[in-house]
Amino acid sequence: MTDTGTDSATATDKLTVAVLGTGIMGAAMARNIARAGHTVRAWNRTRAKAEPLAADGAHVTESPEEAVRGADVVLTMLYDGGAAMEVMREAVPGLRPGTVWAQSTTAGLESVPLLASFAAEHGLVFYDAPVLGTRQPAEAGQLTVLAAGPARGRETVLPVFEAVGARTVWTGDDGAAATATRLKLVANSWVVAVTAAAGETLALAHGLGVDPADFFGLIAGGPLDMGYLRAKGAAILEGGLSPASFAVVTAEKDARLIVAAGEAHGVRLDVAAASAERFARAAAQGHGDEDMAAAYYASFDEGEPPAAV
Ligand code: NAP
Repeated sequence: MTDTGTDSATATDKLTVAVLGTGIMGAAMARNIARAGHTVRAWNRTRAKAEPLAADGAHVTESPEEAVRGADVVLTMLYDGGAAMEVMREAVPGLRPGTVWAQSTTAGLESVPLLASFAAEHGLVFYDAPVLGTRQPAEAGQLTVLAAGPARGRETVLPVFEAVGARTVWTGDDGAAATATRLKLVANSWVVAVTAAAGETLALAHGLGVDPADFFGLIAGGPLDMGYLRAKGAAILEGGLSPASFAVVTAEKDARLIVAAGEAHGVRLDVAAASAERFARAAAQGHGDEDMAAAYYASFDEGEPPAAV
């Protein structure tokens, strides 16, 4: 594994970058790529979400095909592997062999080899390139990019990674082997576990009539304290669940990808499986578009905490 900081030597030429998918993450990434001086062509299924990017100089396109035509780099940041495949199929008439494809959707271990095969079929240079970091680091261009892909093409893709991230961590030179996605799933299993535990702990405090401030005071500054718990706790207790940094429905998708990856490799993951059910329950209660911290509500039958005891 190698680590590349932002000040590594890379090609200074400006690129044409097609960004397919301008949701929470894709919009922020497209904006930072445009601000770095590259030409951005942005496409989103719901066009209204891409339109604000025009103010940053991005060209908003009607179709994936139009976005990718003549692009040096295609960046996909869609919901899941299925969506990435669907959108890339639509882009086919505009794709040319030799184009670099940075696939940043969290797609899972089943999808990445399929996406890599599609790339090979169409002569694209494929990078398995999921990112670590959420809305705020994405907006600040401070993501960590986990990347696997061939040496040829790195000079072209690196300026894009540097525009969206503070760090690029290279995990290998074969995107199809999904080494970057493996690391991403391991990291997200931790994110999912901490989020679920934070929600359950605060739900229990509520049910037992324990002031959350007493819990936070008890662990303050010790090894059980952590910034992530504080951030998710504040989102739950102080009404910071919308707009989401990482939506409940997306977290459920990731939890299921993590469970499937474990199953495929003989590893049973009870916490991730239970977390997927909590996210699903919270979504059914109407919290699907809220931040994943809203899985807190899954602890209560009515979807809302009962009046304090
Ligand atoms: P998001 O805001 O929900 O965006 C999802 C995007 O996928 C939207 O552009 C959506 O289009 C598009 N999409 C979904 N299904 C589609 C389909 N069948 N065809 C075409 N487009 C489709 O999610 P996000 O938070 O930006 O996440 C995007 C990816 O990054 C996910 O894989 C997620 O796991 C990963 N990720 C997220 C975070 C985070 O903190 N948010 C961090 C790291 C990685 P519409 O606008 O039309 O719905």
